[in-house]
Amino acid sequence: MTAVEISSPVTLLASPAGGGRLAEVRARAAAREESRQARQRARASRHRRSVEELRHVVERGQAQLHADGDRPEATAVEVVAWAVREFGPYLAVASSMQDLVLAHLVSRQLPFVDVLFGDTGYHFAETLGTRGAVEIEMDVDVVDVRPALTVAEQDAQHGPRLHDRDPEACCAMRKVAPMRQALQGYEAWATGVRRGETAARANAPLVSFDERNGVVKINPLAAWTDEEVQEYARTHGVVVNPLLSDGYPSVGCEPCTQRVEAGQDARAGRWAGRDKDECGLHV
Ligand code: SF4
Repeated sequence: MTAVEISSPVTLLASPAGGGRLAEVRARAAAREESRQARQRARASRHRRSVEELRHVVERGQAQLHADGDRPEATAVEVVAWAVREFGPYLAVASSMQDLVLAHLVSRQLPFVDVLFGDTGYHFAETLGTRGAVEIEMDVDVVDVRPALTVAEQDAQHGPRLHDRDPEACCAMRKVAPMRQALQGYEAWATGVRRGETAARANAPLVSFDERNGVVKINPLAAWTDEEVQEYARTHGVVVNPLLSDGYPSVGCEPCTQRVEAGQDARAGRWAGRDKDECGLHV
């Protein structure tokens, strides 16, 4: 399958004549819009494939990308190249606006790829600021994925601070259900899940069929360490959430995220003190 033809990425060095910062930002916005239209045309010329067809794609992908005998598993760049070839305009990237390493990696091969941001209504100001910076600085197209209810409506229907009383229900309404709905418009999503993050993620495959959402799930960074993510972000000047350097190695919703002590597990600040370490999107 041929990847959708879309605009070249905008480089800040190659700003239009007489440019400057504003011209660069405008050029990126124009390229983003052009890319959006190209993606719509590409989708109109090829329908979203059925679940059965997508399962076959997963089998092919696993045969090509997973380790086999002496052959090591594919690198992140190889996984992304495969995903772009296979899914083109039907590929999305998920991001919590913690760091944009995966989005950057994919956008180099698929400029202005859709980046799905679960906008729960409970994010830190720094996270929302990061979301804004991403649109200005990066060749991606951020899609805000919002719950059916605003926080005020949820408070009215379910009582205030549901996240304290029943975080599973809160995550289900504000994160999991909206993302499932959004994914119905795609064939595949790439996530930043890494095996080293939690015990539940220790066996995360590069490619699998996501039964919960009925799409293909791709984890290009599955084998990456924290250090590799940080090194990539540094080398490529990737936008990162400022909270990462303020004691929050893992950033989620404000009511459910605390700073961690030196030496603690990176996700120790998520739902701290509760028997919960996943929102339900991935595990
Ligand atoms: S992380 Fe907390 S505030 Fe965010 S959706 Fe889950 S329970 Fe609600």
